[in-house]
Amino acid sequence: MDLGIRGKRALVCAGSKGLGRGCAEALAEAGVDLVLNARGAEALETTAQAIRDRFNVAVTTVAGDITTEPGRAEVLAAAGAVDILVTNAGGPPPGMWSDWDREDFIRALDANMLTPIALMKALLPGMIAQGWGRVINITSASVRSPIGVLGLSNSARAGLTGYVAGTSRQVAPHGVTINNLLPGIHDTDRATALDSGVMQAQGIDRETARAQRMAGIPARRYGTAAEFGAACAFLASQHAGFMVGQNILLDGGAFNATV
Ligand code: NAP
Repeated sequence: MDLGIRGKRALVCAGSKGLGRGCAEALAEAGVDLVLNARGAEALETTAQAIRDRFNVAVTTVAGDITTEPGRAEVLAAAGAVDILVTNAGGPPPGMWSDWDREDFIRALDANMLTPIALMKALLPGMIAQGWGRVINITSASVRSPIGVLGLSNSARAGLTGYVAGTSRQVAPHGVTINNLLPGIHDTDRATALDSGVMQAQGIDRETARAQRMAGIPARRYGTAAEFGAACAFLASQHAGFMVGQNILLDGGAFNATV
């Protein structure tokens, strides 16, 4: 399918690895030029070069922490006007409800709620002015179904979801859509880190921890970054202009619901 976005320009945050990289690659495959961000400059450059070589698109890199004011300012200055924004950042650490204090919540809110909101606030006016734009926020399945040990994520991402629900309807008249992609377990470094948490908590090996987590997924496997990226590219495409304020769950059927 021709996604109809060849020659457009996207900012993909936290995109040197994992789900962000999956989104960057799928957009590049559709002919989209990229501004790519992550903190670690080396992995970022390696990913950027791999994308240039494979898809023949322009990739500008900006190394920096997207959850900080200076990091965002640098990324936004390099990006200029973009047609497509993919927001993403690392997820908060796991723990217990009794562990978290105000500072932990502020950090989680900064990373997973206020950062995407700040990026949208900066880039939506340009999209509105040109009458076309796409925002895809990488959130989490925890928005639909809470994950106890990820209470910081459950809370911060629920806040972002509420913001998107209202804001997406305010920008839709201008040809701009905002939607959220909700990953269930995907095979990335983040999933490996969470596997390690299960290993530690239960005193089991990695294979058993993964098998246990996969048993809770009707597809009986973890998702891939490529599958996730393909969904992102579709949301960014010309074909998704009538999808507004949706929360798309990619979880292999793990969330058990009729609708
Ligand atoms: P990942 O494989 O660990 O990759 C994270 C990417 O983000 C890396 O490129 C990392 O590069 C970059 N990054 C992290 N913090 C950053 C920051 N502050 N500023 C800029 N770049 C940053 O993680 P993932 O699995 O793709 O997860 C992406 C998001 O989806 C996370 O918020 C995660 O919580 C959420 N999620 C993932 C899953 C899953 O199963 N994978 C499920 C639900 C939700 P640097 O470290 O070099 O910055």
